[in-house]
Parts: sequence; C-alpha cells; structure tokens
Amino acid sequence: MLEIMDIQKSFDGTQVLAGVDVQVNRGDVVAILGPSGSGKTTLLRCMNFLETADAGTMVFDGERFELGRISKKDIARLRKKTAFVFQNYNLFYNKTAIENVTEGLIVARKVSKARAVETGRRALDKVGLSDRYDYYPSQLSGGQQQRVAIARALAAEPEIIYFDEPTSALDPELTGEVLSVMRQLADEGMTMLIVTHEMGFAGTVSNKAVFMEKGKVVEAGDSKTFFERPRETRTKEFLHTIS
Ligand code: ADP
Repeated sequence: MLEIMDIQKSFDGTQVLAGVDVQVNRGDVVAILGPSGSGKTTLLRCMNFLETADAGTMVFDGERFELGRISKKDIARLRKKTAFVFQNYNLFYNKTAIENVTEGLIVARKVSKARAVETGRRALDKVGLSDRYDYYPSQLSGGQQQRVAIARALAAEPEIIYFDEPTSALDPELTGEVLSVMRQLADEGMTMLIVTHEMGFAGTVSNKAVFMEKGKVVEAGDSKTFFERPRETRTKEFLHTIS
C-alpha cells in the first residue's frame, strides 16, 4: 500500500534521515523504534509532509512520487489518505470534542455539518467518549484529549494513521486507555505507523518493527522475530536497555 525508499532529510547541514526505507501493507501495524534523536519523528513528519524531505520516493496505492519535488496538489491529495496523531494532541482549545473532530470534515472536506456531526459522534463513540461530545479539552484528562485526537483521525477515514509517540505526554495511569483504543483499532485492521517507546505495546500489537539509529534503519522485520530473536547486536542492546 505504501512504500518509502531512500528518504533523506537534513536540518542546517546535519543529516537526520540518511536514506530510510519503510514498507507498509494494508492492515499492518508498524512500530518505529529507536533511541531519542534517531530521526523517528522526522521520518513520520516527512511521510505526512509536515516537513519536506530532501529526497526519496514514495509509492502510495501504486502511484509514485519524488519527495524532493512533489507538488502541493499531490501533497493535498495524499494528505486525504492519511491522518496524524501528535504527541501533544494538537486540539483546538476553544472548541469542544465534537467540534474538534468535525472541523476538518466541514472546513477541508466540505462535508455538511449534519453529516460531519454524525461521523464525529461515531468516532467519539468508538474511542469511548460518547458522554463527552460537548466537553472542552480543558475539561478532559490527557488520555481523553488524546482519544479525541484519535477520533479526529478516524473521522477522516484515512487509509493509514501515523502516531507520533501518542502516550509520551501522558501520566502512566492514563497511558493504558490510549493504548487500548489503539489496540482495538489494530484488531479491526486499521493500518498504523507508530513511533513509540512502549515496548510491551509494540511487541504485542505491531506486526512489523523498524529500529532506527542515527537516521538509518538498523533492523526491520516482523515483530515476533524482531523482539524474540533480533539479528543485530545494536538491536539486542537497545531491547535490553529499554525493557
Ligand atoms: P526522534 O523522534 O528519534 O527522537 P527526531 O526526528 O525528533 O528524533 O530528531 C532527530 C534529530 O533531528 C535530532 O537531532 C533533532 O534535534 C533534529 N531535528 C528535528 N527537527 C528539527 C528541526 N525542525 N530543526 C532542526 N533540527 C531538528
């Protein structure tokens, strides 16, 4: 469904992505792992055009794009296939949960308000917030706010959802409710690419793992092999220190 080949990105002359490849099939849950500063977030942001990659190729649904010179029109078209869940939720704080979820549908997708509200309610129900439609973010816990952000992603009916460390801003007792929603989406076959430090979650929910360091992929493969019998010494060290 989605393939990234040799993606490269530098900031001020420092190479942060030094030729990374990622393959995603429909229904895959891909965990992107690695130490802090290894380029995981930058990879995700380049894949969703929140940053512009310097070079690399993307093949999405059989269409090929050169990332270093992709047009605004193609970016807009590709963005409709994807959704992004940020570390810090990125909600509008002056809008209620349902308004946060429907805003993009009404403004960017030109869906009627009635239909957007119907879709938005379904999405909020799915993440367990059917009793919080009209709450403002400030009236919700961090875990609930992140679930609103996940509902917003779902309402866009994307082909893939990118998650950038979705639980790292949460207190440990609120992490579980967000991971459990993500686990449910995985069980339902949602395609997801997840940057995470939650190794237990990655080990049980993902079917593919990509381990990055210094802007490169050190090891990638099916999660079972990756977690149980990693090939590279560096992967073994990483799994050992983090667990
Ligand atoms: P990770 O997600 O693995 O922690 P990041 O992708 O956030 O890694 O960052 C990789 C490197 O790129 C870091 O050294 C970081 O400081 C740098 N970096 C990320 N974004 C920017 C930016 N907008 N400007 C300059 N440097 C950046």
